[in-house]
Amino acid sequence: MNIVLFGPQGSGKGTQAEVIAKEFGLYHFSMGDALRSEIKAKSEIGKKVEKIMAKGGLVPSQITFDIALKKSKSKECSKGIIFDGFPRNDEQFQFLKKNFKIDAAIELELSKEESINRIASRRVCPKCGKNYNIIYLKPKKDGYCDDDSTKLITRDDDKPLEVKKRLEIYKSQTEPIKMEFKKSKILRVIDASKPIPEVSKDILKILKKI
Ligand code: AMP
Repeated sequence: MNIVLFGPQGSGKGTQAEVIAKEFGLYHFSMGDALRSEIKAKSEIGKKVEKIMAKGGLVPSQITFDIALKKSKSKECSKGIIFDGFPRNDEQFQFLKKNFKIDAAIELELSKEESINRIASRRVCPKCGKNYNIIYLKPKKDGYCDDDSTKLITRDDDKPLEVKKRLEIYKSQTEPIKMEFKKSKILRVIDASKPIPEVSKDILKILKKI
């Protein structure tokens, strides 16, 4: 089973993708995480995408195609993939359609205002990449990662100007893809403004029927 999870920044894609992956034994493929790993490893790809990502832009689609294809051939993906943050524009949607059978596309719907509020309170562990939210998903010890006690930071692209740019890109390039999923009758829309466990429950209910 392959699933696409999409929604604006702060809608909880990463958190919910983890829940789905665990429940169905799927591989949680976060394009953002994959790109951040390249930056951390100082690879050629990492060097190409670092500045673009810090400013909140989209990296060239060909880079995302290479990463997605390579990953999808690994054993971890044998039961299926939950795509988080991919596709993000029409050419990525066309690529996905050509290379994968998608069983469901779940949109996490959230208003722009709520999206901005959530991102403003998001923190991340620079060591392991775990996400927190100082209001909704607090670490056990204020300001430090639960898993490795590293001091939490705000991502460069979570700063106000960059967030504005990312939300504009979401609205103009990512949201329109929704119509394609709708045409194929695989779109399911979830109210992502509810508390995290309720959103998980709503998603699992839908996916168990597939
Ligand atoms: P995310 O962790 O999903 O918020 O993604 C962080 C950043 O990674 C985005 O703002 C983009 O710069 C880049 N990125 C992630 N996924 C994609 C994609 N599918 N296409 C292009 N750039 C992407």
